[in-house]
Amino acid sequence: MTRIALLGATGSIGRQALELIEAHPDLELCAAMSGVRPLDAVAASHPRARCAVGGDPIALLEACEPDVVLNAIVGFAGIRATLWALEHGVTLALANKESLVAGGALAREAQRRRGGLLIPVDSEHSALMQCLDGWHDAQIESLVLTASGGPFRGRSREELAGVTVEEALAHPTWSMGPKITVDSATLANKGLELIEAHWLFDIPYDKVEVVVHPSSIVHGIVRFRDGAALAHVGYPDMRVPISYALTYPERAATPVPALDLAAGVTLSFEAPDVDAFPLLRLAREAGERGRTYPCVFNAANEVAVAAFLDGRVGFLDIAVMVEDTLGHVGDDEAGDLDELVAVDSEARRIAAARLVHA
Ligand code: NAD
Ligand code: MG
Repeated sequence: MTRIALLGATGSIGRQALELIEAHPDLELCAAMSGVRPLDAVAASHPRARCAVGGDPIALLEACEPDVVLNAIVGFAGIRATLWALEHGVTLALANKESLVAGGALAREAQRRRGGLLIPVDSEHSALMQCLDGWHDAQIESLVLTASGGPFRGRSREELAGVTVEEALAHPTWSMGPKITVDSATLANKGLELIEAHWLFDIPYDKVEVVVHPSSIVHGIVRFRDGAALAHVGYPDMRVPISYALTYPERAATPVPALDLAAGVTLSFEAPDVDAFPLLRLAREAGERGRTYPCVFNAANEVAVAAFLDGRVGFLDIAVMVEDTLGHVGDDEAGDLDELVAVDSEARRIAAARLVHA
């Protein structure tokens, strides 16, 4: 039996994880946590699981002794659970990319010290991990992250000025929580994923390429020095990478059908438009500058996306707020979690002040 602690159990990833846990005889839910939504239905189907709504995830994790922590909390709020798992050598199935973006150095240091597994749930990174298996660094030329391009692919900056929250939430290929759906529309999500790839695979930024691939069939590509490349393909369905992370290295069966090639699968790729979607460029710059710039990028983006979802700022203001905040803070090191939390709070304060003037 693999005991799983599921954080973010009421979300898009959380609900799909529950479906997989319930269908697999060797997976057992030992704990479930949500931010505010009640967990009555989860508690009824899993009477032995500890359930908590809000509060401290660490107390829950300490009490339930999991084999795997599936961190599907949204945002920087997931940082404590990420570090707890890595510091205890407990396998971390990580959907909460924001914690690795903001706290990459602390997370990797804890993982190296304790030797636990860190398995990405993000589909692109799950794909890359699978394509990277068995090769060594010198053989690898670069990694390719694919992006659907979101609902506004092909639009110019001018055409993006008046887009509504409803339009931003209408993602063409993936059904996800509201924050990541807006991040996909601005391409901030691919920027976060670029930084995530840097930390997961220990790879410099100039060796990670982003391409737009509208049908989301190719999830990731690894290029090798001999000119060959391995790609990971399949329907866009998060149950595949969630199941991979929960059952690694078993690769259990899922209800997701195999790709129907005979029905006609067309693959097309194009360069991302970083003028219309500057958050991708800003994320790359923040990653390359290192230190706490990625933490600031993430914090300002969280504040700006929440303001956009509330109708307080427009779509283009998200990137303006992030760029402005990055101009004020970021050039610090965070040697521990308390220092990182202080940087995150300061970045949120500056971004929120920018909101008053937006
Ligand atoms: P969501 O908004 O649907 O769900 C978020 C979950 O986190 C909810 O259960 C909520 O109650 C919980 N939560 C929020 N704040 C919390 C807090 N302070 N403490 C405890 N729980 C809290 O989001 P989602 O789409 O499921 O995404 C979750 C994470 O997975 C994000 O980091 C996202 O980037 C990542 N991710 C999601 C997808 C996807 O398909 N949805 C794909 C790749 C990566
Ligand atoms: Mg992804």
